[in-house]
Amino acid sequence: MAALACLSLTVLGVGGAARGSSNSGLLKVRLGGDQTETRIVLDLDRSVTGKLMADGSGGKVVVALPRIDTASDLSGGGQGLVRRWNLERGPGALKLNIDLARGAEVKRRFLLPPGDGVQTYRYVIDLKALGDPTNPSVAVAPARPRAALAPVLPTRAAERRGPRVVVIDAGHGGRDPGAQGRSASEKDITLAAALALKARLERTGRYRVVLTRATDAYVGLESRVQIARSADADLFISLHADSGPTTETRGASVYTLSERGESRVTKVLRKDDWLMPASFPGADRTVGEIILDLTQRSTRNRSAEFAQVLLENIADETTLLRRSHRDANLMVLLAPDVPAVLLEMGFINNPDDERQLSDSAHRKRLMNAVGDAVDAWFARQAKVAGR
Ligand SMILES: [Zn+2]
Repeated sequence: MAALACLSLTVLGVGGAARGSSNSGLLKVRLGGDQTETRIVLDLDRSVTGKLMADGSGGKVVVALPRIDTASDLSGGGQGLVRRWNLERGPGALKLNIDLARGAEVKRRFLLPPGDGVQTYRYVIDLKALGDPTNPSVAVAPARPRAALAPVLPTRAAERRGPRVVVIDAGHGGRDPGAQGRSASEKDITLAAALALKARLERTGRYRVVLTRATDAYVGLESRVQIARSADADLFISLHADSGPTTETRGASVYTLSERGESRVTKVLRKDDWLMPASFPGADRTVGEIILDLTQRSTRNRSAEFAQVLLENIADETTLLRRSHRDANLMVLLAPDVPAVLLEMGFINNPDDERQLSDSAHRKRLMNAVGDAVDAWFARQAKVAGR
């Protein structure tokens, strides 16, 4: 997605005095991205529960950070969707005021705790352009009615940006039958499961569901990733059925992107640009890597979180493999900024699993459980975004 098309990253130090000072909090402000999506990263020495005070309507985004201070009032020039920004120190909170360069909305906000070798907390704000970003005549969006600016509760924040987009990927298809059971083919089971999951999710009215295939058609892996990207997916679920070396092994398992997979993403991005709209200019390679790295880390965290919720929810409906959440180096998970999991629903060459997977009532129960996991995960994301 466009978040990856970060052509440059501005690193704005808040001054050495701020670093480590007990009454500071904010260490750095970084901007990355372009006219389609712009990411603002606040490096903090402590956790924070941010509050959205203005959501982009009226040309301004304001985020209050309670109990955060910084060494000095700071401001900076813009990048991408940000015309300019400044920090305003107030009693008990620091306010980040963003003037938008064009109509945009806050797509997501989340807090990343220290980890993976990064010592700071990072509060991330992703802005997304409204309308056609290539058309400069689209000015800043008019102010919405006042009611829209009421305090943003987590669930409202989720509702406000419309339905969540879930891409369901039925593995294999067409000339690629996938794994083979005694009578069932993986490609037929994955398609039936995908359709059942789509129905379950659409019943809630909260999701827009996009299938990578709705028929017995062959769709290449690159196309599947591209479908997720152009659908602006919030979540990508790939459905498969395993095949083991013996008929004894059974149970479901969930895969997420591995470290190995991530280094492969970087390679793919460098080699050709089908995964991203623009390549990093040579001079900005290092900063490009920083923001790519950040995107992936957060994506990996969120994917792993979903994997966990998914396993909890399907545990009642199906046997699980002993080590059910595994990291995979799988091409189909290589959409680096979309949280993605691959669900192996069971072993098609195990007679018990094959019988279950071929049974539409069982599949429906299993996919209802996956739907419960999707509901639970988005509710949790909304809570995080409400920080
Ligand atoms: Zn498969």
